[in-house]
Amino acid sequence: MSLRPGLERGTIAWEPDVYGRSHFGVPLEVWRPAGACEVLVFAAIHGEEGETTTVLSKAFRHLAVPSPHCAVILVANPDGLLRGTRGNGRGVELNRNFPTADWRPGPVLHRDTLDAPREVALSPGDAPGSEPETQALIALIDELRPETVVALHAPLACIDDPNDSLLGRWLSERTGLPLVPDVGYATPGSFGTWGAERGLPVVTYEFGPTTPDAAVREHVPVLVDLLTGTR
Ligand SMILES: [Zn+2]
Repeated sequence: MSLRPGLERGTIAWEPDVYGRSHFGVPLEVWRPAGACEVLVFAAIHGEEGETTTVLSKAFRHLAVPSPHCAVILVANPDGLLRGTRGNGRGVELNRNFPTADWRPGPVLHRDTLDAPREVALSPGDAPGSEPETQALIALIDELRPETVVALHAPLACIDDPNDSLLGRWLSERTGLPLVPDVGYATPGSFGTWGAERGLPVVTYEFGPTTPDAAVREHVPVLVDLLTGTR
């Protein structure tokens, strides 16, 4: 498919659908594909990982018409992105809020930087799937029925794909990021675990601890190819 020139890439070419509302009432937006949804790509389920939104948006704005087979969510956690927090508006770590067999009550400890201690407490929610962002994403996936979900995160610098799928291998080859079967620590209630329990393959695409400029250079071309089906 033909790509928009730079002069046209200041905005997204068409409007999204709203698939729910965040805790603060911010619309949760999805751009649907032209055809059947093979891949759902989402960014910023962690609100402090805004570079994933920027990079995905810059890639997405190359498209003049909907992606043939990719659905796109630029911000899965808008409350967190607005406030610069990892969790949603209630301080819930959405990536520990999914209804999985291993979901457990909090606190969820995270770290400010890769070399900092895990000392910042968040909640996994009052119950599995308690948050509106979680519920809306599950309902959207039930409707779209994607074959695979690609979840964008930072800054672990890897392609986490427990299924060792063709898509995971392609992302690893294109980015130079290592393909790994897990991130090396337990993630109860995570989106990836939820997907695995229902047979939905999830590839976690973790940008490295890089500058925003370098992240754009490294990842926008890869995501343009993913979105246009050029792989
Ligand atoms: Zn993350």
